[in-house]
Amino acid sequence: MQRRNFLKGAAALLGAIPINAALSAEAVPGLTPVPALTPAPTPEVSAHLLSRSRPLAPIIASPDRIIEMNVCTRPFRPQGPRIEYERIGRKDVVHNYGHGGSGWSLSWGTGQIAVDMAKVHGRKELAVIGCGAIGLTTALVAQEAGLKVTIYAKERPPYVASYRATGSFTPDSRIVSAQYASDFAAQWELMARRSFRRFQSLLGTQGHPIEWRDMYSLSDSPPGAPRPPVHSSEPEYPSLERELLRDITPNTITVTSHPFPAAFAYKRPAMLFNIAEYTRVLMAEFFAHGGNIETLVMQDKRDFAAIHERTIINCTGYGARALLGDDSIIPVRGQTAKLIPQPELDYGFFYGSRRVSVYPRRDGLLVQAQAEGDFNNDREALDPEESISAVQRLAEIVGAMKG
Ligand SMILES: Cc1cc2nc3c(=O)[nH]c(=O)nc-3n(C[C@H](O)[C@H](O)[C@H](O)COP(=O)(O)OP(=O)(O)OC[C@H]3O[C@@H](n4cnc5c(N)ncnc54)[C@H](O)[C@@H]3O)c2cc1C
Repeated sequence: MQRRNFLKGAAALLGAIPINAALSAEAVPGLTPVPALTPAPTPEVSAHLLSRSRPLAPIIASPDRIIEMNVCTRPFRPQGPRIEYERIGRKDVVHNYGHGGSGWSLSWGTGQIAVDMAKVHGRKELAVIGCGAIGLTTALVAQEAGLKVTIYAKERPPYVASYRATGSFTPDSRIVSAQYASDFAAQWELMARRSFRRFQSLLGTQGHPIEWRDMYSLSDSPPGAPRPPVHSSEPEYPSLERELLRDITPNTITVTSHPFPAAFAYKRPAMLFNIAEYTRVLMAEFFAHGGNIETLVMQDKRDFAAIHERTIINCTGYGARALLGDDSIIPVRGQTAKLIPQPELDYGFFYGSRRVSVYPRRDGLLVQAQAEGDFNNDREALDPEESISAVQRLAEIVGAMKG
């Protein structure tokens, strides 16, 4: 009961913070403090730590270094992802879609839940529809459970939406609205913990598919200062990671001495996905375990009949909206740009008031612009100006960094 109330309280307060800014959650005024298992360092301690660390390598930001721009749609459902059984004709279908801005982060755990539901039907052969973050991991979990898996998909990597994501561990990014948070919290925690654990098993492996990197959250206003009202049609989101994963995720520390042209800086290690290498690893594992991928474009529910297997897990992401006529999926547009990789970078940052963030991914220095109007926006067309101006804002910040 206490937890339910707490989630609601946190959710209400969280409406004021920038989305996808798990890093800055600690800096949000008014959030209910949560007892940490390990005490957060004091500002003095963190300043001391920083002054002893190496200087930050310079980020080279200019529009002529843009090598890629991408648009992708987050499949958001206010009630959380649909992980549910449905009988469609003669097929036993388990849906596993609608993971908002958290698909990569929750993939292993959501795959496990879906596979457990599919196994109930007792068949050894399984079809997985979709070859994005959710389809691939679900297929691997099923193989590990001893099933023979075929993936059917319209697109496969690198042409799936998942491939165009930011690539960080953001397990509560647009995954559920505050209204439904308390009903979903337990399932979310299961998914997040299982996934988190699985990612750690890939650390230090060849190609570095998963890495931990320092991310700074920069702010112009002190903690506690009133924030400008948010003009957005978005619902409020709960801070599930902060509330429920506190024992396994790092603390945020206040950095009192830093080179950024911002009044306040907070630092927290973040887990990043090198999506190119990580996807390659997933695909290689899938094929190594006898998996097969077939190209198939499904138009509507009747097309489930064309699939050979009787048990099917549907991981079609945003595609489920058209395939099933499921209007509960709300498109949330996101546009990113990639700059020429800088493997020497071991940090990134998020600067909310300048609407830009940068992630030091090995497969490209990823720059994301936070744009108003992304919610309920399914526009797939690129807006090059959006990314170019984000890179220009980044260049201004980097140009003003001390040292
Ligand atoms: C800008 C942006 C940044 C993001 N950053 C992050 C992040 O940092 N961390 C994170 O965890 N998540 C992030 N996300 C969210 C994440 O990308 C999604 O949750 C995830 O991609 C969903 O994966 P999926 O496999 O369900 O869908 P998809 O990747 O879209 O895969 C769907 C699959 O189904 C197939 N399919 C669809 N319809 C049909 C059909 N009719 N017939 C046959 N096949 C079909 C497709 O071809 C594809 O193979 C981000 C999203 C965006 C837009």
